[in-house]
Amino acid sequence: MDVFSPVTALAGIGPQRAKQLEKLNIRTLYDLLAYFPRAYEDRTVFLPIGALEQGTPACFTAMVVSEPRTAHVRKGMDITRVQVADETGKLTLTFFNQSYVKDSLRYGESYRFHGTLSDSYAGQMANPAFEPADRAGLVTGRILPIYALTAGISNSLLIKCVQNALAACAGALPEILPDSVLHQYNLCPTRMAYETIHRPASWELLAEARRRLVFEEFFIFSAGLAVMRKRSRLAAQPYACTQMNAFYAALPFSLTSAQQQAIDDILSDLASGTVMNRLVQGDVGSGKTMVAAAAAYCTVKNGHQAAFMVPTEILAEQHAKSLSALFAPLGIDVVLLTGSLSAAAKREAKAKLADGTAHLAVGTHALLTADVSFSDLGLVVTDEQHRFGVAQRAQLAAKARTPHLLVMSATPIPRTLALIAYGDLDVSVISELPPGRQKIDTFLVGEDMRRRVNAFIRRECASGHQAYIVCPAVEDGETDTLKSAAVWAETLQQAVFPELRVGLLHGRMKGAEKEAALAAFARHETDILVATTVVEVGVDVPNATLMVIENAERFGLSQLHQLRGRVGRGSAKSYCILFSDTKNAETRARLKALCATNDGFAIAEQDLALRGPGDFFGSRQHGLPAFKAANLQMDLDTLRQAQQAASVCIQNADDLAAPEFAPLCRRIEALFAQSDIALN
Ligand code: ADP
Ligand code: MG
Repeated sequence: MDVFSPVTALAGIGPQRAKQLEKLNIRTLYDLLAYFPRAYEDRTVFLPIGALEQGTPACFTAMVVSEPRTAHVRKGMDITRVQVADETGKLTLTFFNQSYVKDSLRYGESYRFHGTLSDSYAGQMANPAFEPADRAGLVTGRILPIYALTAGISNSLLIKCVQNALAACAGALPEILPDSVLHQYNLCPTRMAYETIHRPASWELLAEARRRLVFEEFFIFSAGLAVMRKRSRLAAQPYACTQMNAFYAALPFSLTSAQQQAIDDILSDLASGTVMNRLVQGDVGSGKTMVAAAAAYCTVKNGHQAAFMVPTEILAEQHAKSLSALFAPLGIDVVLLTGSLSAAAKREAKAKLADGTAHLAVGTHALLTADVSFSDLGLVVTDEQHRFGVAQRAQLAAKARTPHLLVMSATPIPRTLALIAYGDLDVSVISELPPGRQKIDTFLVGEDMRRRVNAFIRRECASGHQAYIVCPAVEDGETDTLKSAAVWAETLQQAVFPELRVGLLHGRMKGAEKEAALAAFARHETDILVATTVVEVGVDVPNATLMVIENAERFGLSQLHQLRGRVGRGSAKSYCILFSDTKNAETRARLKALCATNDGFAIAEQDLALRGPGDFFGSRQHGLPAFKAANLQMDLDTLRQAQQAASVCIQNADDLAAPEFAPLCRRIEALFAQSDIALN
């Protein structure tokens, strides 16, 4: 059977099961095979009943020595009790709301059980798993895989589905890794790896299988990056960078020397004759936009187009506006392209990009759609890179043969991770802020300070400034202690600040509504903007001097720092107030760390130190693909080997379109979740 057949090809999986499985992103037999257990339970140890220890799970074989009886204890709750025994002792098993066990446990017959002897009731065990002694091996006497589950799908059901899928097509799994690599790194073959990961015969074999699958996954990832790197070493026509003075003269301020250095790095890349791949890292407010603008200016003056890709529509609109203002007098035409533009506006923008009348496109993911084409794309800038994956970078790059690539990020990331995610990039760091910025004073307060904070908000607004109030959720939902933006905005307007103008901004508003809310705030038609984290990235309203964050414990440190970066953008003194009543000492330490410093890089280090790299790697902030088997933290050695093997393999491959590379290319594409990485 083909490994990419839909799951419904298996006996016992109908449309409804298929729908439930889809919630786990399982659609094909291959998805089932690649749905690796999240943990394993050791059920290999059998003990006589007399040797069972309280609180320690174990297997045992026993005979049913009483008729099972079900009692209804109260509405919605029944208990089934049965006694079992072996020659060393006797046990009472209790099953809660599982009255069906009455029919599966027969008086006088032997079963194998797995369970934990109760800590509090001597001689009792609750809800053990069991199976007939003569047909055992599914839930006892084995290393049991534990899968992540969803409603309607139990662990034993998943075990059955996966086993059926293995039986149907394990032999048809293509071998991704070249023979030479299998040999050199001593890796087990595909089929064995997949069978073992789901049904390990021993812990040793499981470790072998896992190593192979992790290697495979990293190999695929590294091969994808190697393909991109191979591309990026391509020659490019050198740009002349001699006309920058008009650009510098048009700026409303003089650049900091760190900005100038980054621009010089970029210009020398553009002039070099090979494709630029550069990361500009600079703290919130360090002025990265102008650095990107300089690169765009140079590109356009050399007769090519530039694309500026940002993670949110709000940011796109804002950048489009400020870049148009800067560039229009310089004869450069800027167009905005986002998902929520009207069809007509989109059509017009696309037409201007396709025929070259527009020089600079500013947009969101909409720039990635297949029907956007450029007449001559020379530069791609992605802003706030942590929201964009390696994949999107590749995808946009694929829209031109060899565009220069500029990546802007405020998120400092650990070195190992940088090597993986940005291994193909050169780095410029903007290490200073524009002059005149004052420290943003940050305070951690509890609910008892609410009145004083409200008075402070009133005072700031009375003196002509504006405030953000950020809430963790949009509508009242999960828990009532969380301020939700919509409800909170209403309350504040009605009951707290009737004399002030309160606006609302959240991610679920329509594009035009969002734009209107932000524009009103920027024009000072509202005094207070109640928002979710949609304001986190890049929003720039220099008149805002106060950032209040509700339920601050819900946010990561780096995220709080980004939010705080929305104020202190002008010359007025700015403040950030973190509301939290959390008792958790570790969380309080995190929030206090934020109060103590304004340095984003120091905060990221703190975040790492306090939360550990696990959190960082797990947070998906880095834009790496989601690995199924691999764990970036634990498997770094395997990663290095796989990188090595993949780079040799890609280097030696003359033609990745050759049939023997088809399975590898398919997996690269799936991992990067996109179809048009340019493979040659
Ligand atoms: P980043 O993207 O790095 O967070 P921005 O590019 O949004 O920062 O710049 C933050 C603010 O600082 C903007 O209002 C911008 O106009 C201003 N700015 C940038 N560079 C300078 C400079 N050299 N001098 C004064 N203000 C600057
Ligand atoms: Mg920015």
